Amino acid sequence: MMEKVTEYFGSMVFDDRVMKARLSESVYKSLKRTIDRGTPLDASVADAVAGAMKEWAIEKGATHFTHWFQPLTGLTAEKHDSFIAPAPDGRVIMEFSGKELIKGEPDASSFPSGGLRATFEARGYTAWDPTSYAFVKDGSLYIPTAFCSYKGEALDKKVPLLRSMEALNKQALRILRLFGNHKVRSVRTCVGPEQEYFLIDRDMWKQRKDLIMTGRTLFGALPPKGQEMDDHYFGTIKPRVAEYMADLDKELWKLGIYAKTKHNEVAPAQHELAPIFDTTNIAADHNQLMMEVMQKVALRHNLVCLLHEKPFAGVNGSGKHNNWSISTDDGVNLLSPGETPYENAQFLLFLVAVIKAVDDYQDLLRLSVATAGNDHRLGANEAPPAVISVFLGDELTDILNAIEQDIPYGGTKKEKMQLGVDVLPKFRKDTTDRNRTSPFAFTGNKFEFRMLGSSNSISCANIHLNAAVAEVLRQFADVLENAENFNTAMHSLIQKTIHDHKRIIFNGNGYDDAWIAEAEKRGLLNLKTTADAMPHICDPKNVKMLTEHGIFTEAEIFSRRDIMLENYVKTVNIEATTMIDMAKKQIIPAVAKFAANTARNITKKRNAVPELPCTYETKLVTELSALIDAMDDATSILEEKVSALKTKTNILDASAFVKDEMIPAMDALRSSADTAESMTSEEYWCFPAYDKLLFGV
Ligand code: ADP
Ligand code: MG
Repeated sequence: MMEKVTEYFGSMVFDDRVMKARLSESVYKSLKRTIDRGTPLDASVADAVAGAMKEWAIEKGATHFTHWFQPLTGLTAEKHDSFIAPAPDGRVIMEFSGKELIKGEPDASSFPSGGLRATFEARGYTAWDPTSYAFVKDGSLYIPTAFCSYKGEALDKKVPLLRSMEALNKQALRILRLFGNHKVRSVRTCVGPEQEYFLIDRDMWKQRKDLIMTGRTLFGALPPKGQEMDDHYFGTIKPRVAEYMADLDKELWKLGIYAKTKHNEVAPAQHELAPIFDTTNIAADHNQLMMEVMQKVALRHNLVCLLHEKPFAGVNGSGKHNNWSISTDDGVNLLSPGETPYENAQFLLFLVAVIKAVDDYQDLLRLSVATAGNDHRLGANEAPPAVISVFLGDELTDILNAIEQDIPYGGTKKEKMQLGVDVLPKFRKDTTDRNRTSPFAFTGNKFEFRMLGSSNSISCANIHLNAAVAEVLRQFADVLENAENFNTAMHSLIQKTIHDHKRIIFNGNGYDDAWIAEAEKRGLLNLKTTADAMPHICDPKNVKMLTEHGIFTEAEIFSRRDIMLENYVKTVNIEATTMIDMAKKQIIPAVAKFAANTARNITKKRNAVPELPCTYETKLVTELSALIDAMDDATSILEEKVSALKTKTNILDASAFVKDEMIPAMDALRSSADTAESMTSEEYWCFPAYDKLLFGV
């Protein structure tokens, strides 16, 4: 019998429905107050909630509980404790206290802290985030938590994300009050992350050390057919993939994740899954959970789900589109143009605030998505470029121009527009915009930040985005709160903001080389790699903004830079050593064997017919021998780079070295190996090639 989705949706989640049913009215009410307003929970309430959670979790088959957190590794972490406690008669009882729910103390010394936590106080603690529901998975009760050092420094991505949401809430409320809105109690950001991924056959995956060790192919000549036919995009889903997707949906639905849209993507073997948007910190938790479940469910189908940003060179990479909006607790989307002059003016004010925030903090947005993996997409002739710009569509851009220049819009006879008095001219909500080349696109009632890598946590991008917008709203509120005439002041503030920041608006093709040149003329940043981008987090203007809004302390900012750069260096170093291993033990021997066999064929043929020229074989052997030598040389050079990297003690030097020396050495080795692959008989090749990986499911 088919179960009904409506019945099993959220069945593994301790959600509001369950809380209402299982908690006493007074406990439920005080928990709700904590969830909605952040008021501290008292101990007796915590015990009652913990007791109800435990009973519920045990009914769902849980024997353990774990605090679930997001350390700076970019993955999630968990440490499971069982509920059991000894009973006097030698048996056990199942226990779970409010204290255990609220606070955990994982031995955290191995998580990256960037020097924030001295080893003598290696312990950190985890603190329950009651705004994100607990859930049962694999026999454990999972409790979403924040992760801090004993001094209270954030060691994770959730703490600063919550802080950034609070900063934006505070400043946005100031603006809304100026518009006379005293009803709204809170403003939050919402995110719907569209997640791209590749699916490949697991038996083939097992044969590739590069996929196993690094999540991407480090070698591989392009197949005769790639994505040039565009026949995969939105194409029919193959049965094995369809079964995977159905299974995945079901698992996600049980966990209360609104998995909504699924389709094939541009590249062969590439797909996308989008959930319905949710409050940002929940969307972030769900996205982490989604990535984990995607990988786990794949194994059941003898598939491997690749979340790497660039699993295959020369084939489209995978990103994550962060659809972001701001809305009030009474459900008004502040990025949606309203009907009345006042709503319109408010919309425009928030719109230009985002535009200014993106312009002022291009560097923070760029570096929030910088990883070794994503460097293969951004700035590497792929969607989107490393230069940040905002797409508004032609009509909205024209409206902003008209406002800035105080001229009538669209050549009509109408008078110039007075904001707060006139209704905004209707413009087409360009939701169908297929300008997929824009890194930051306005799509009618939300912005779509498209630079995130497929494996990135969405937290970093949203921390910086929320913080930057909070800062601009602060500046706006400071001006407007002191204005004599609100309308006039707002009008000129919007005009001035458009004037000062229109350089960031670009509606054209972001892949075009001409745009990169134009962007440079406009003074926009082009931070091509992680090594270029990451140090900017410590620029005084960024430190000032992030600390003033309480997102990070200065120590946290410096530690984060170091952790992210260490991550970059380590990732590339593992790739380099894996390449050396594969070149020496697999590729060079395979090519050598094929060359030797071809050479033997020359001898055999000449034994039969002495005067045979054997032109083909001779040419092949000569070329293959030259490639073997080239690979051998390139491997030695790469080995030298790996040794040299060990001597770099400063992380800035190390990351610059990786970018300037190591990656080019890897590219050189790959280039000769890929040429050799294209000339070597399939029968001799040492692992599944691109055509098999990409078309094998
Ligand atoms: P596409 O970008 O492919 O056109 P959709 O328009 O369906 O896709 O939206 C993509 C994502 O944007 C989905 O996750 C959706 O839930 C999310 N989304 C829609 N409206 C909003 C909003 N107001 N705020 C944040 N995310 C939103
Ligand atoms: Mg999209």
